[in-house]
Order: sequence, then C-alpha cells, then structure tokens
Amino acid sequence: MSTVLIIGAGGVGRVVAHKCVQNSETFTKIILASRTLSRCEEIASELPSGTVHVESVDADITADVVELIKKVGADIVINVALPYQDLTIMDACLETNVPYLDTANYEHPDTAKFEYKEQWAKDSAFKEKNLMALLGSGFDPGATNMFCAYAQKHYFDEIHTIDILDCNAGDHGYPFATNFNPEINLREVSANGRYWENGEWIETKPLELHMPWDYPEVGIKESYLLYHEEMESLVKHIKGLKRIRFFMTFGESYLTHMRCLENVGMLRIDEVDHHGQKIIPIQFLKTLLPDPASLGPRTTGKTNIGIVAEGIKDGKPRKVYIYQIKDHEECYAEVKSQGVSYTTGVPAVIGAKLMVEGTWNMSGTINMEQLDPDPFMEEMNKQGLPWQVKEL
Ligand code: NDP
Repeated sequence: MSTVLIIGAGGVGRVVAHKCVQNSETFTKIILASRTLSRCEEIASELPSGTVHVESVDADITADVVELIKKVGADIVINVALPYQDLTIMDACLETNVPYLDTANYEHPDTAKFEYKEQWAKDSAFKEKNLMALLGSGFDPGATNMFCAYAQKHYFDEIHTIDILDCNAGDHGYPFATNFNPEINLREVSANGRYWENGEWIETKPLELHMPWDYPEVGIKESYLLYHEEMESLVKHIKGLKRIRFFMTFGESYLTHMRCLENVGMLRIDEVDHHGQKIIPIQFLKTLLPDPASLGPRTTGKTNIGIVAEGIKDGKPRKVYIYQIKDHEECYAEVKSQGVSYTTGVPAVIGAKLMVEGTWNMSGTINMEQLDPDPFMEEMNKQGLPWQVKEL
C-alpha cells in the first residue's frame, strides 16, 4: 500500500501516471499535481476513472508542496516538473519525512549550468532523517548509470573508459521541435561540451567533437559530444575509470535551426526589453515551438541509448555495449507519449517502485550507480524497456 505524489504533468509526467496505474499493486493511490490543473485533468481522463487524483501546486514554493504532501499523505514524491524545482521539492520532502526521486539535476533558471552540488549538499539532512533522495532516475541520467553499475558488477574487474551513446532517430515531421522541454533541451545542447579524462574535466566548444556510431536497429548516426550530468556522479563511483564521454545524435535540420536561433539571440536566458515589456527570449521561443507532449501521435522511428565500457576482466581486455531500443509508435500506443518521455518516465516509476517496496533502501542523496543494478535491470525488462548486451 503506497500513495505516490507525482509533481509535473508534462510529457514525462503523463508516462509516469500511466505506468503507476499499470503498477497499481505497488502504487495504491496516485496523485498527479502540477502548476496547471487542466494538464493533470487531461492525463487523468486518459486513465480508468478514479485511478489518478489531480491537484494543482506551485512547486517553486516549498510551503505549498509541504501542504500538498500532508494533504494527500504521500509515501513518495516523484518530481518530474522542471530541474528548477528540485531544491524546493527536496526541502518539502525533508520537512514531511517523505522519500524523494527526480530525473534531472538542479539548474538555476538564470544560469545554464547544471550540477549536483546543491542537491548533494542536502545529503546529511536526508541521512539524519533516514530518508532516501534518489537523484536522476530517468534514462540518461538513470538507466545509463544502471548500465554502468551492471557492467561493473557482472562484466569487469575494472572499467577504464565509458562512452554513453544517446540516439533518438525519431521523426516528428516538424522542421524543428524538441522532444522534451525546449528550454532545458536547448540550454543543454548549446552549452560548451565537457568530458572527463585522467581526473580532469576537458572543455570543448558546443558540438565541436563528433563521431559516427553504428546504433543497432537504427544505423550509423553522427554523434556529438555534450556534457551530461550523469558523468559527474559516475566519475566518483566507478572505480579505475580513466575517461568518460557522452554523445548524442542530432539531425542536420535540428542543428541548423539551433545555430540560427542562437545567432539571432533567441536562446538568450536573460531578460530583454521588448516594446516596454520584459521577455526572456528562450521562454518566448518555448511558447512558439510545438509542445513536446504533442509530438506523440506523429513521431515514428526508434531511440537507442546505451553505454560502451572498456576495461579488464580476469587480466584480459574486454569491451561491452549495453543498450536499449524503443519504438516511438509503440510508446504512443501504450501511454500516449513519444519515446523520449517514455524512456524517462518508466525508469522513474521503476526507481519509485524499488524504493517503496524496500528493495532499494539507503539514506541520503543517492545516485543510481550506488545501488544494486540487478533489480532495476530486471524491472526494465518487465516494464517495457528490454535491454541487450553485446561483447565488442
Ligand atoms: P515538460 O515541460 O513537458 O513538463 C514539465 C511539467 O512541470 C509541466 O507540467 C509544468 O507545468 C510543470 N511545472 C513547471 N514548473 C512548475 C512549478 N513551479 N510547479 C509545478 N509544476 C511545474 O517537461 P518534460 O515532461 O519533458 O520533462 C520533465 C522532467 O524530466 C524535466 O526535469 C526534464 O529535464 C527531465 N528529463 C529527464 C530525462 C532523463 O533521461 N533523465 C530526459 C528528458 C527529460 P505547466 O504545464 O504549468 O508549465
């Protein structure tokens, strides 16, 4: 018996709500809360009547989240709002003694930089209350951290290099749209790249380094080096690691549009004066672009996200590729969402399930790879994200 409070009713929130209903033996009461109540109502209307209760909340205000947690009697909070709300929701969980889970690390709205520093700073507060805050239980971060932990546990004595390879070969038919929140997505992609080698972070210009990679069931795609948040925790927790990089594929149309928007100032995150009104260009752009949640019915193709780890087993070199392939149309048929929201929302529900069932039971702020990967990997196979391992 557990009551789950989902905060955020966007693309990912929709998948989390659908999947919690599918796991109703674990989540006996489901509450979906977000800033705009009508978005929660729309999602609830897709599910059997009475299975999802809706609430509105401004998660930027800790006191409001505290009140809601108490009102609904939450046993766990799944935060799938935006990274800006991570700290306020974590504080509300601390105040009410409720475990916390998210899928993206904290970002300040005024600085396009994401890091775990401020969330990790709450580690001792969560430990003192014997509470778990699971950070980054989406796909990347999330499943990718689990793939690394699984490789470390079952395939290697020591891992020396990891490449995380994220391919979305979906086609939504628009010249330009983002598959998750446009503001978060464009801030991430237009930022400088960074990877870690021999104990140091090496910075690159945005999208400066790239390589072709042959993604199973998708084909060869140019893949661009980005900074991605799971690397910050993996360098701490994977022993013997000498290098870690993150690559993501982008189509030519996406890149050309993004460069153009950047050149004309539409990706700016500072306020500009427009006919006496203050606007933030990237937020205005978000208003113009297709809502990621609306891409579901028109997206075809597959996602393929995985890791390639290289290292030593029993004194011999070894190279292993662990990956997961998901079809966008299959996702839409199941939960009315495209594959990027699906592959994020399902790991969030798996993480929450393992927490409320007590399989994962640690205290403090925990990154995924600190936990036993086996039950998570098993659940991925059951919950719609089957994965494969290939020796290279
Ligand atoms: P969307 O923009 O589609 O949805 C965000 C939701 O959060 C909206 O319903 C929005 O409400 C709500 N929200 C925003 N601010 C507040 C607030 N102050 N109080 C309450 N609700 C609020 O985003 P996605 O669903 O695409 O992404 C959700 C999260 O998942 C993000 O943090 C994103 O970074 C993360 N993510 C993680 C991935 C991973 O693999 N780890 C991959 C993709 C996404 P409103 O409708 O009113 O705007």
